[in-house]
Amino acid sequence: MNNKRPQNIKIPWFFIILLAGMIILLLVPFRVMSERLTANELRQVLDRPEEISQAAIELSQEGMAAELILELSDGRSVKATVPDAMEVMDRLDQTGVDYMISGMAETSFFDSFPMVLMAIITFFFIFMLMGARSGAGGMNQRMANFGKSRARLSTEGNVKFSDVAGMEEEKKELKEVVEFLRHPLRFSTMGARIPKGIILVGSPGTGKTLLAKAVAGEAGVPFYSISGSDFVEMYVGVGAARVRDLFEEAKRTSPCIVFIDEIDAVARRRGTGLGGSHDEREQTLNQLLVEMDGFAQNQGIIVMAATNRVDILDPAIMRPGRFDRKVTVGRPDVRARKQILELHARNKRLSEDVDLERLSRTTAGFTGADLENLLNEAAIEATIDGREAISSNDIEEAFIKTGIGTEKRSRVISERDRRITAYHETGHAILFHELEDVGPVHIISIIPTGEGAAGYTMPVPEKDDMHVTRTQLIHMMMAALGGRIAEELVFNDITTGASQDIKQVTKIARAMVMQYGMSDKVGMINYEENGDDVFLGYDIAHNKTYSDKMLSIIDDEVRSLVDSCYADAKAIIIRHRDVLEKSCALLMEKEKLTGEEFDALFISACSGENASE
Ligand code: ADP
Ligand code: MG
Ligand code: ZN
Repeated sequence: MNNKRPQNIKIPWFFIILLAGMIILLLVPFRVMSERLTANELRQVLDRPEEISQAAIELSQEGMAAELILELSDGRSVKATVPDAMEVMDRLDQTGVDYMISGMAETSFFDSFPMVLMAIITFFFIFMLMGARSGAGGMNQRMANFGKSRARLSTEGNVKFSDVAGMEEEKKELKEVVEFLRHPLRFSTMGARIPKGIILVGSPGTGKTLLAKAVAGEAGVPFYSISGSDFVEMYVGVGAARVRDLFEEAKRTSPCIVFIDEIDAVARRRGTGLGGSHDEREQTLNQLLVEMDGFAQNQGIIVMAATNRVDILDPAIMRPGRFDRKVTVGRPDVRARKQILELHARNKRLSEDVDLERLSRTTAGFTGADLENLLNEAAIEATIDGREAISSNDIEEAFIKTGIGTEKRSRVISERDRRITAYHETGHAILFHELEDVGPVHIISIIPTGEGAAGYTMPVPEKDDMHVTRTQLIHMMMAALGGRIAEELVFNDITTGASQDIKQVTKIARAMVMQYGMSDKVGMINYEENGDDVFLGYDIAHNKTYSDKMLSIIDDEVRSLVDSCYADAKAIIIRHRDVLEKSCALLMEKEKLTGEEFDALFISACSGENASE
């Protein structure tokens, strides 16, 4: 069948109107006036015949049953199905109520309208499902229009990189993509391999959508955006049809950007998640992968996707030729926050007493969206109060008024907490720097992550070594202990901030003793029961597979392993106490240090020592 798809069939609209109509019908019955009575109510009505002003009996075609319709003196109209028409007639005769008798009314249009609608809709769905499932074919083509992608072609605003404050790293990574979209041919003749898919990872409100739009805006190409959750419909096949359609459209207008927001909604690791539209998601994901594999690199389509949960994504989508590039969009550091505030203050009138610099310093952990929202609320506040410009008081109010107020104000971190975090993270970093088998440091940050961590220290990703050595494991444990050690050294006290670290250390130590045969006393016996995430002590205790004696030996071994790591790590940090102080001071100022900035501290520390000697 060769049929160009008619472009403008508005089936979805038609459908939506039908559906709305049906809902209205169901909620507001057409014959409001005929309220159906229960047997009991009917009896009551018949007991007071003086209140009946009119009556009609509709006899059914066969049998004794009939519809009794009564108009009451208070204007109400009621009806009931009575089992025996004769009996009712007798009754009415006795009470002297006059009535009309008719055959069962021919079903009026209004009576059957909901039924007809229901039938149409059911029919429609059956069509649609068949269409979506059967792959190709004319019917499918037409029906797939229902699954027409909801992608919105956005030309709105034409966002540029200059509208995205901060994010220097991220923009740098994406410049290349912009270049490619501008001159796809140039790249393909050169044989350069350009990523097809880029995944933006970051908390909500960090500016992922904005950034993707800016890439399109900079390159001057169309920007199609759709949300993963739009794909996931109740009906199997619709999502896949939408994906197909989206890419068809994209191919027609390439070069362009296809942006899939909340990709985790479709691309969750297969076999996880709870029931529901399970099949549907899988089909949609498969279709997405097929499409991405299908178009050639030089076709000029770049798929960008956003998520805040990269850990739950199906590994299949990260394979080469798919979303093989990952750009992490972090929460803004103090400088970036100032830039964001300045950017959003551009079109607002601020009074003299507003100090954006100070505001940026007290909003660690806020995302770009939080900051934008804050200023906006302040502007509303000022307007309501009829002020000329936004005062610092308005901003204070905005803190309280917005969601940011109640829930995140607590996130406005005290100076003391920031210091603790700075020392803690530097503790990790020093060990990453000093130990050979881990690190080096990539980034140290004391910007709260929003997922509960007060900061983080990120080593450069390690090579995928096939074998992890004992030394490596020891070094990993030492680095993890660094945070706690630094706190202890500086404050002479410890905080609860190291619980994740301790968990990790415990996990490694246990694995070394119980799985990897790295303890002499325990030997090469596997004591692991069910995968490594089970709380082993519990498991073992309940299975009684091992003797209590063995258990206590295991405990001792784990313990002594951790203790010795602790001692060694502490010695290293003590040796670099000066770095600890300097790094902490720098972090307090900048919130975020790159690996180079951190390494430089060691050099200056060394030369400092030399000079003093
Ligand atoms: P995400 O997609 O990561 O949830 P958005 O891109 O939708 O976040 O950002 C929401 C809003 O927050 C943007 O429209 C913008 O006003 C503001 N915003 C976020 N990050 C920035 C930034 N770096 N510079 C300027 N504005 C930002
Ligand atoms: Mg978004
Ligand atoms: Zn830590």
